[in-house]
Amino acid sequence: MKFVNVIVDISSEKLDRVFQYRVPERLQEQLQIGMQVSFPFGKGNRSMKGYVVGFSDETDYPLEKIKELDGIVKGSVKAESQLIALAAWMREMYGSTMNQALKTVLPVKQEKQQKQSRQLRRLVTEEEGKTLLNEFVKKNYRAKIRLMAALLDEPVLSWKKVTEELKITVPVIKKFEEDKILFLESETVYRNPFEGHFKKREEYLILNEEQQAAVDEIWSEYEQGIRKTYLLHGVTGSGKTEVYMELIARVIALGKQAIVLIPEIALTFQTVRRFYERFGDRVSVMHSRLSEGERYDQFMRAKEGSIDVMIGPRSALFTPFSQTGIIIIDEEHESSYKSEQVPRYHAREAAIFRAQMCGASVVLGSATPSMESYYHALEGDYGCCRLTKRIGTAQMAEVSVIDLRTELKEGNRSIFSRKLYEAMYDRLQKGQQTMLFLNRRGLSGFVSCRSCGKAIRCPHCDVTLSLHSDGKLKCHYCGYETGMPEVCPACGSRYITGFRAGTQQIEKEVKKFFPKARVLRMDYDTTRTKESYEQILSAFGQGEADVLVGTQMIVKGHDFPNVTLVGVLAADISLYATDYRSVERTFQLLTQAVGRTGRGSRHGEAVIQTYVPDHYSIQTAAKQDYEEFYWQEMLYRNLMGYPPAFSMLGIYLSCTDEEMLEEQAKILGDCIERGQVQGLTVVGPADAALAKKNDIYRKVIYLKHEQEKVLLGIKKELEKEMEREAVWQKVYVQFDFNPLNAF
Ligand code: ADP
Ligand code: ZN
Ligand code: ZN
Repeated sequence: MKFVNVIVDISSEKLDRVFQYRVPERLQEQLQIGMQVSFPFGKGNRSMKGYVVGFSDETDYPLEKIKELDGIVKGSVKAESQLIALAAWMREMYGSTMNQALKTVLPVKQEKQQKQSRQLRRLVTEEEGKTLLNEFVKKNYRAKIRLMAALLDEPVLSWKKVTEELKITVPVIKKFEEDKILFLESETVYRNPFEGHFKKREEYLILNEEQQAAVDEIWSEYEQGIRKTYLLHGVTGSGKTEVYMELIARVIALGKQAIVLIPEIALTFQTVRRFYERFGDRVSVMHSRLSEGERYDQFMRAKEGSIDVMIGPRSALFTPFSQTGIIIIDEEHESSYKSEQVPRYHAREAAIFRAQMCGASVVLGSATPSMESYYHALEGDYGCCRLTKRIGTAQMAEVSVIDLRTELKEGNRSIFSRKLYEAMYDRLQKGQQTMLFLNRRGLSGFVSCRSCGKAIRCPHCDVTLSLHSDGKLKCHYCGYETGMPEVCPACGSRYITGFRAGTQQIEKEVKKFFPKARVLRMDYDTTRTKESYEQILSAFGQGEADVLVGTQMIVKGHDFPNVTLVGVLAADISLYATDYRSVERTFQLLTQAVGRTGRGSRHGEAVIQTYVPDHYSIQTAAKQDYEEFYWQEMLYRNLMGYPPAFSMLGIYLSCTDEEMLEEQAKILGDCIERGQVQGLTVVGPADAALAKKNDIYRKVIYLKHEQEKVLLGIKKELEKEMEREAVWQKVYVQFDFNPLNAF
């Protein structure tokens, strides 16, 4: 490497870009990303400090203008500097300002006031105290007498005792403090969100052969100093969590720490408990329901070394551990690992970068790996371990695929196929539980006209409105609501109805067909409050209901041994989403749904109802055949030039002025064309999937190329272009690598 990219220390926010320096010969070997370095800066060649964020063999600047690095700042690489380097990398990779990137990696910026246990310590000697007490008695200062007497009895008193038992007011305490009779001490108490909830266990499960083989493979390389990324491809219920915990225990034994990412939705009491039972107080957890103060405390505990394991969603990746030894990403295929805010980073990619900086290995676990990860595993970029069997006697579920068209033809108009009805009836008789899964929310989806076929849409957001139980039509993006119209706004026809297939509707149908069944419903509407999500799960887990009806949130990683039937009501709905990942997502959802049943010793069954029974995503999910799905899907990705076969860059433009947006989108498009990059596919500019949101117009351009590097280069060019013209302050541009959701 010849040149080093550095960013100037965080305090100078004006210097929001990367600077290049020449690497002197003597530093060639030592220099690493994240290191703090010093360099001459500006006209006066003032010595400045900053962080290494990357290396390159080429430079965009004239050679004679490039100065040489002074040296590495003495002392070890601190966690913060790694996080700052991570921010810089995210800024380069995904496009954002340094400020946005720093806010992402350092989420708890200002110090929140901590819960403190305060105490009062007597400063005066006993002699002096007695003299003071006498004076107070003479003057009959009751409160002062009580406090002084108490301090003479006990030189250290708790704030609580003084204010609550002795009923001394704060001004009296302050006066004593001013007069140097006492000293106010505070002991910082970190809030531990677990306190008292769980007990650490002394005995562990013994790993089975497959689990042990996975641990051995990863660990033997770890011991040889090899750090890399592993895909742990294990079917549902194969015991991946035990593998994570064994690896973590070994990493901790070396004095290092572990970060465990789990999708927020799977971050339940059950999951956290397992970690806590193994690692006790040395575990901490982060989630969006923690207060800012609590998050700050968790970060402080990590920084000080009072914990070894941090569990949490995407943002837990930024835990300031000093020596991270392993990063686990459970359910790595989950789309919640990608940020939908600028910088639009993917936690998997960011984790791998962080791991490279701190010398950690990464383990990605899933029953249905993302196309990307499996692709990398096959290419040999990642190591790959497999768990092919469920733990113990649990068997894979028996799956039937039901063609809803046939049901209709044969006169069954209910939402339950005959097969599903019979199976549910059977479970109710046996006192076993059923889960019914529907991939949507609300009482019904869109409202449409039977005469002209038009759906009723939001005037601000250009999406269909959905009908809620209170009879109102609502927009899920901007909250716009309106009453149900009597006639179609487009053609005046009176035949206008909702499409009845929401979770509420299913709940009603279950109650109609099975009046004695106890039903719980879990969807966006029933889980708005803080605890409702856990409450519904734990009620179901304790057998307080026979049937759980829900949206995709019920298929995520929950372990209910008494569930022996899973019904998927409309398997194909998610196939019709407008992005290239809809088939992958459908396969994942179905496989995970099927994996919810038969986790105990009893045999499990799944019924998948669909209008497209022959579709490969449904066929392969029914067979639980990941491999076959992967190859079928890869054919499509190759053909269409989608990731992971190609790299893809989304460019999202938004502006309140429709004309200006149109013009600027065209300018960007032309700018890309002018570059004449070989092998580049340009899609657009076009209206975004959501062409207008909150009265802001949106357009998209998509680029596809075999090499990510090429797309990064184009992004850089465009950024330069945008710096030149003031109009880009009115048109907001975001970049999105390998987008997951349509903009
Ligand atoms: P996965 O994450 O792969 O779906 P889990 O780690 O949740 O699977 O394991 C499924 C169940 O099997 C859990 O209840 C777990 O406690 C149990 N289990 C895992 N490994 C073992 C083992 N080696 N011996 C006995 N039980 C195990
Ligand atoms: Zn109409
Ligand atoms: Zn709207």
